[in-house]
Amino acid sequence: MMRIGMGYDIHRLVPERRLVLGGVEIPFEFGLLGHSDADVLTHAVCDAILGAAALGDIGLHFPDTDPTYRGIASLVLLKQTVKRVIREGFKVCQLDATVVAQAPRIGPFRDEMRANLSSAIGIPVGMISVKATTTEGLGYLGRREGIAALCIAQLEKG
Ligand code: MG
Repeated sequence: MMRIGMGYDIHRLVPERRLVLGGVEIPFEFGLLGHSDADVLTHAVCDAILGAAALGDIGLHFPDTDPTYRGIASLVLLKQTVKRVIREGFKVCQLDATVVAQAPRIGPFRDEMRANLSSAIGIPVGMISVKATTTEGLGYLGRREGIAALCIAQLEKG
């Protein structure tokens, strides 16, 4: 049985924080604010996987009130997310994600992000798509106030 899930996340860009996207630290004057490393791409991926399995969302499994997750690498949360869906009999097959950021440029880091997601999930890198777009300067994302990410995941249940 094939299942589809979608994930969406957004984090605020602030000074004096690291910018981590898909587990890659990107040199930039601002970073994303959050309880974990605020890796908005990986959070959207987690939510898409949980959504396909109808297992709630990332906030349910990894609450930001829990000190365990303070500053944690979101790739660790992704590994735990995948374990949970596997325990329910699912297999992650494929992801397609989009990062929405006016800056910095995502392209040079895309393949490293895909490799990180691939090894965290345990599926071939060819099954993982990471795309990027801007908002042409429109709105809060265009004003570089934050970065958003969207993801669709395909899972199978045997
Ligand atoms: Mg988040």
